[in-house]
Amino acid sequence: MNRQKILPSIAAIRDEMVALRREIHTYPEISFEEHRTSDLVARLLESWGYDVHRGLAKTGVVGTLKKGNGSRIIALRADMDALPICEQTGLEYASLNQGTMHACGHDGHTASLLASAKALALSHDFNGTLRVIFQPAEEGIGGGGADVMIREGLFEKFPCDAVYGFHNMPGYPVGQLGFYPGALMASADTVFITFSGKGGHGAMPHKTPDPIVAASSLVMALQTIVARNVDPFEPAVVSIGSFRSGDISNVIPAEAKLDLTVRAMNPEVRKLLNQRIEELTLEHAKMYGLEASISFEEPYPVLINSPEQTEFARQVAQDWVGDEGIIDSLKPIMSSEDFSYMLEKVPGCYLIIGNDGPDNPNHSLHHPQYNFNDDLLPIAASYWIKLVEAYLR
Ligand SMILES: [Zn+2]
Ligand SMILES: [Zn+2]
Repeated sequence: MNRQKILPSIAAIRDEMVALRREIHTYPEISFEEHRTSDLVARLLESWGYDVHRGLAKTGVVGTLKKGNGSRIIALRADMDALPICEQTGLEYASLNQGTMHACGHDGHTASLLASAKALALSHDFNGTLRVIFQPAEEGIGGGGADVMIREGLFEKFPCDAVYGFHNMPGYPVGQLGFYPGALMASADTVFITFSGKGGHGAMPHKTPDPIVAASSLVMALQTIVARNVDPFEPAVVSIGSFRSGDISNVIPAEAKLDLTVRAMNPEVRKLLNQRIEELTLEHAKMYGLEASISFEEPYPVLINSPEQTEFARQVAQDWVGDEGIIDSLKPIMSSEDFSYMLEKVPGCYLIIGNDGPDNPNHSLHHPQYNFNDDLLPIAASYWIKLVEAYLR
């Protein structure tokens, strides 16, 4: 159904853009090391007449194209980074960078935005300013790229009235568009906890404070935060993903370490979760005669879509593909996304587009056999054009 809606300007460059997506797939690069991808993006934008700024957050690229005399400015964003995963797709264009893979479809996000950037420059008219933002490090290995771009002056150097981005989504038919006003994706905090004592002989527990006992008790106490402190109508997650301590049966170790992931859909709940984790940790240290250190790292805020910009984006899609092209009851997602940083600064909308097709088995994002669906590319690119034309009338 969506297939007939692909714009002629995109249909004409489909094969070229699919080849480009596959080339990016073959050479995946992890956070802040997207040098080849970023150079490819910048060179193409320059060749289509964009004013190109390189090097924001190391490998980030911003392209600007002005047409007519309109004063409105719209920004479209794609992420460029890959993951440290060994690809198992068996594709002829599979990763040549051993241990690195485009397992989240950012190759497709980048190629879709490039396709629309090319068509908008060469085949379409609009009245105002278009910015295309290609960001590094969405996966946040070493901090989220969107946050770094913003701290390096993204929106001061390149002001925007609205910003839009999309993620492909396994589990929905290819090309179906999903919109959700308000909190769509969770905040994520990684919490590192260490209990420190002095270590000693396992036969003399009365002489050595025991970090394993303290950490074990804390693991259970942490389960009470969501169960006993958070409003039952508010989604929240506290998961302990790693518990490390000790090497041998007859030694009380000097340290125990816990790594947690903490998720919420509401900034107030996020604050409460982190505050309770800190309180329980410090109380446990006191109870068991230990020192505790706690650090909160790699934080991603709740992704909150602005109602007005989301309704605008949904209406553009509705006018273009009708009801059957839209996911009718999109639910919030407990995973996180650093586009949330951009939405904290500029109103906008993060939408999702289905990735499942007959040739694309439904592997989840971050799976070693996942692949971006090439049928999604022309649909996403056509939608970006529709959105820009509507915004910059
Ligand atoms: Zn991902
Ligand atoms: Zn992703």
